[in-house]
Amino acid sequence: MWKICGYELNRGEKLQVMLHPNGREYEIPTTLICGAQEGTGMTLLITAQIHAGEYNGTAAAMRLAKKIDPKKLRGNVILMHCVNTAGFWQQAPRFIPQDHTDLNMNYPGNEKGTIGQQVAAWFVKEIFPTVDFIADLHGGGMSETLAPCIFFPRAPKVRDCVLEAAKKMNVEYLIASSNSVGEYGYAANYMDIPGFILECGYGGLTREEWVQQVQECMELLLDHFDMYLLEPPAELTVSGALSKESVWELSAKNSAQDLPMRKKYRKKLFEETEYLESDMRGVWYPAICENQSVKKGDLLGELGDFFGNMKKRYYAIGDGTVVYYTSGMSVLEGDALVAYGLEDSAEEV
Ligand SMILES: [Zn+2]
Repeated sequence: MWKICGYELNRGEKLQVMLHPNGREYEIPTTLICGAQEGTGMTLLITAQIHAGEYNGTAAAMRLAKKIDPKKLRGNVILMHCVNTAGFWQQAPRFIPQDHTDLNMNYPGNEKGTIGQQVAAWFVKEIFPTVDFIADLHGGGMSETLAPCIFFPRAPKVRDCVLEAAKKMNVEYLIASSNSVGEYGYAANYMDIPGFILECGYGGLTREEWVQQVQECMELLLDHFDMYLLEPPAELTVSGALSKESVWELSAKNSAQDLPMRKKYRKKLFEETEYLESDMRGVWYPAICENQSVKKGDLLGELGDFFGNMKKRYYAIGDGTVVYYTSGMSVLEGDALVAYGLEDSAEEV
């Protein structure tokens, strides 16, 4: 029996519910899955759209909710398909629209505060104590272009555990983060709960390749924690007429089909990332793209006015790789312009 948020699930049960962190006023569509298999008692929390408008995680969560068979699952999975549901319906990017709370910046919240603060406090009190790992699904915002990547906590007690899992994901960049006031960041730093942010997709777009990438990452995560029974590989049928080469080819083909979760991915870990912010309001022209390598002194972009007068140029402070950048023209003072991982701090993992 698994007790969670007022619900009780028997082994092998899947339940789809609306969770209410704040009376009936706020709702989070959630799939609860209680594994039938003996073994790990761990609970995995997957959250999507803590930032409204970052859609690919929600599409992947909906597919995972259908695909995960409780009979094959060890442990429990909490799949929150959309956390900032109010923002989703109001088509308000990122923040909880009632009070402009950014749930990636406002933990631990306040039970007696505004709606956003209450949602954060509810996670801290009701959800975090019941989970063993958090995967928080994000993407670039409406005017932010990014390369798929993972932010992992620097928090020493959980760092190694998170990195072992992150290394199995099918993204190219792993980025150390000091965020201790977001969902996974607070849980990692103050409650010793390991977890990461997976960023995939951008621009308010839902694309099949990104949805599949997020879904595959979550399947890799289930596999990493030995939470899911894999299908056994199909039997190789080898006739006497086949050459040795054909057998190998057939074997490779079958392996690829039957064990997609076992792929290996090369990736780069950035210990230090430069987050360039605007120091004035202006019309922005980026000079770089995601995934682009930059050298120290390279132009990253220009800020100007509506009449085409250039006000400021921004240059790279070191060699790096652009992970995300603002691709929209409108930039306010303090807005993120470009984030690039510094090569001096990078290692291949
Ligand atoms: Zn986000």
